[in-house]
Amino acid sequence: MLILVTNDDGILSPGLSVLADTLAELGRVVVVAPDRERSAIGHSLTLHAPLRAEQIKKDVFSVSGTPTDCVNLALHGLLDERPDIVVSGINRGGNLGDDITYSGTVAAAMEATLMDVAAFAISLESKTFNAEDFVHAADFAAGLVRQVVEHGLPTDTFLNVNVPAGEVRSVQLTRQGKRNYNEVVEAKLDPRGKKYYWIGGGELGFHNVEGTDFHAIVNQAVSVTPLHLDLTNYRSFDELSSWEIDTLVPGQGDDK
Ligand code: MN
Repeated sequence: MLILVTNDDGILSPGLSVLADTLAELGRVVVVAPDRERSAIGHSLTLHAPLRAEQIKKDVFSVSGTPTDCVNLALHGLLDERPDIVVSGINRGGNLGDDITYSGTVAAAMEATLMDVAAFAISLESKTFNAEDFVHAADFAAGLVRQVVEHGLPTDTFLNVNVPAGEVRSVQLTRQGKRNYNEVVEAKLDPRGKKYYWIGGGELGFHNVEGTDFHAIVNQAVSVTPLHLDLTNYRSFDELSSWEIDTLVPGQGDDK
């Protein structure tokens, strides 16, 4: 089995090495990861700058790009064969609810899915980030790799996994929850008296709704959320079809 491992915390992240070491028990692991932290970089692809991939040792590459670049480069150049699975993580911090739209960790799994390779993202929700918690998450990842390879993922689907710190009581299939985004920008003065802003300073709340990723984590369960690339809101069709969007055809004169 060939497993591609990447992350958004950078090549030196402890979550990456424990994941790669643990998955090595299942097959050949190739690590292709950003050369520095790229958290919250989303699904960004580098199109207007050269990318360098430095081989640090056998099967480990440090890339001067984003997690999405790493997966792209691995699949289209660095790897001599297609991987059976791409695993992204273990992220330092949960990727829950709406956060996944910012996440480089999740985007790497998304990129693999775009390229028809099975993938999941895995994150550790913790305040202390004990080594033992990373080991728990890595063990879970190994078990999940086995199941993904055995069953195959549904079409266009990848998994977003979050592991709680401390004792794990269960594993739950969940849906994406919702954050409360308020008062997350701090304005302060720099030493020269000029104003600056810092995004994401405070603790963010969330809707603690049963069945969601957040609810699983606060109940000490591993959360597994199946995601897909189709962002269409199918439930909105009924409501939006009552609008008169079809009358707004550009270039066809109306009576206004
Ligand atoms: Mn990160």
